[in-house]
Amino acid sequence: MSHNPDKEVYLLVFKDEFFDYYCEKCGNKYEDSHYKWCKRCEINHLKNNFADWTSGNDKVDNSIQMMQLKINSCRGGIFEWITYNKFIEIKEIVNDVFAKAIWKDGPLYYSTFEKIYKRELNKKVILKYLFNSQNVNHLFLNEVIYSVEEYHGVTQNPNTKDYMLVCKIEYYCENCGKKYNNQFERKNKSCISCQTNQDFKKINDLIQEIKLN
Ligand SMILES: [Zn+2]
Ligand SMILES: [Zn+2]
Repeated sequence: MSHNPDKEVYLLVFKDEFFDYYCEKCGNKYEDSHYKWCKRCEINHLKNNFADWTSGNDKVDNSIQMMQLKINSCRGGIFEWITYNKFIEIKEIVNDVFAKAIWKDGPLYYSTFEKIYKRELNKKVILKYLFNSQNVNHLFLNEVIYSVEEYHGVTQNPNTKDYMLVCKIEYYCENCGKKYNNQFERKNKSCISCQTNQDFKKINDLIQEIKLN
């Protein structure tokens, strides 16, 4: 420590360690120092983006903004307004209730390796129709706020004007559109009734095959 060069080396090490825990941009202590994720910077970034998107309805915009600003970690993705033309291969599962689709851009996720948000392209999603669109603000409050982690965001069919929640495939059965009831269904990627139907079909096919032989 008595030599100047040593002191310089010591200072360099200290500086590196400092930025392991404190945001390089704003000096805030990282909420997640392992992934270098700064809540303050992320919220500023989301706020700056408010001008770049709109649903065309102030109430809906406000609800989405409110949801975005509740962000608390880098693990859950970001609730978004998604324009309907971003979906392809839309197929109704249950008429006017559920549809499945591919979201071309896909959801934002925080790349823990690159320490930035990226998009998971061509993501399979479930669209859940919302009714009484004039009360869409209440629907958001009732339906989304307590389970925001189940949704990617919200969209609107420009022809029917129906709003739809964009549901994560990890929480909804792609065969019938229903929300999974438990971990078993989530792990199986199918609800129990769809699984049972499939099993019956397999057994039936097997019986037919045996009969034919
Ligand atoms: Zn920051
Ligand atoms: Zn199902």
